[in-house]
Amino acid sequence: MAQTVRAVKGTRVFWPRDSAVWTEVEAVCRRVFSAYGFGEIRTPVLEHTELFVRSVGENSDIVGKEMFSFNDRKGRALSLRPEGTAPVVRAFVDAGLANSALPARLYYLGPFFRYERPQKGRYRQFHQIGAEILGDPGPLVDAELIAMLMRFFGELGHRNLEVLINTVGDAASRENYRKALLKYLRPRTAELSEDSQRRLETNPLRILDSKAPGDTEILAAAPQLIDHLSDESRDHFDRVVAALDTLEIPAIRSPRLVRGLDYYTRTVFEIVSGDLGALDAIVGGGRYDDLMQELGGAALPSIGFAIGQDRLIETLPAEFAARIPEGPRRMVLAIGEAAAMPALKLAESIREAGSAVVLEGPRRGLRKSLKYAHRLGIAEVLMLGDDELATGIVTSRDLDSGEQKSLVIAELLASLEETQ
Ligand code: AMP
Repeated sequence: MAQTVRAVKGTRVFWPRDSAVWTEVEAVCRRVFSAYGFGEIRTPVLEHTELFVRSVGENSDIVGKEMFSFNDRKGRALSLRPEGTAPVVRAFVDAGLANSALPARLYYLGPFFRYERPQKGRYRQFHQIGAEILGDPGPLVDAELIAMLMRFFGELGHRNLEVLINTVGDAASRENYRKALLKYLRPRTAELSEDSQRRLETNPLRILDSKAPGDTEILAAAPQLIDHLSDESRDHFDRVVAALDTLEIPAIRSPRLVRGLDYYTRTVFEIVSGDLGALDAIVGGGRYDDLMQELGGAALPSIGFAIGQDRLIETLPAEFAARIPEGPRRMVLAIGEAAAMPALKLAESIREAGSAVVLEGPRRGLRKSLKYAHRLGIAEVLMLGDDELATGIVTSRDLDSGEQKSLVIAELLASLEETQ
């Protein structure tokens, strides 16, 4: 026997039952995001590798070791997109939209790719729902974006959520802080975890994120970024916090929250779900006031977030299932070859009348067809045989009770149309 072809590691298939949940979540997303004036953008899955090197950062984990990168047939270095912000900004710059109506409010959803060790909730092809506000310095939109997220999560039925918020300051504040942090950490290098030792040279701010117990102890006494902020950055942060207060969104100031992507400036935030056990983030975001300029565009301050859709869905409350639309509850069944074409036509007429229906031809006999109907969760089977053809009626069988009754086809169609 020929060998089977397995799925690529870290990828998944979504069968109709799963897809129905994903589609419903996406419908809620589209509805909520539209209410805030966002429009959908669809960017390519493939980008030049350089885009992510210049934006996410050469020393970030993502670019350093997690990208699916390859040379195309002409030797161009390409990567499957590992995140969504850089492609959106690139597209915006490419299209020359700096003078369009600003701010631009864009959202996206789709697959992203990172070469990570597959584990619970982490995949190599995963999915993000993200939104960006391009060309607004905040701070009101910072809070508005978080409010939109909370509304979206609320509409999905998520309850156990916490907003963690911090500021990483502007580029100058961060540089000051980087120096102070290095001055403190360098003499303690030997006591740091291996990961943090590596980051000391490449991306010292990321050490603040470390969960290694030894690191946490050292970091407890480390200089704080908040003490190195410019007045402007501090004022921005205070105003974001005040705006969240106005909206009665409880946010926890988290001085050690720094995100793994280099382009963040000022506001950074995560929303974590207690339902995930380890209080894992389902969404991360922040300002990236310098990114567009770094990618050759105008100096337009911007902010965005990305939700991990896989995790979002894995943690949906059980009640959400009740909102998933069901498949057809009705079947048209042809009994005998002569009924095949009339059954095909009847099924189409039922759909024309606005109802969903599954058609079952005569090929495998009544018993097997009824068993199939049961497995599909069909409630009513409309049976069409020789007698019915002669009289313009169908026999309707209730699959639960087994009861049967005759229905005049014309009347059935009229009543279906009425219930629309
Ligand atoms: P990031 O783009 O790293 O800020 O991630 C944003 C969100 O995407 C995270 O909070 C995760 O929920 C989700 N995410 C990132 N990488 C993966 C992955 N490999 N598999 C599943 N979800 C992911």
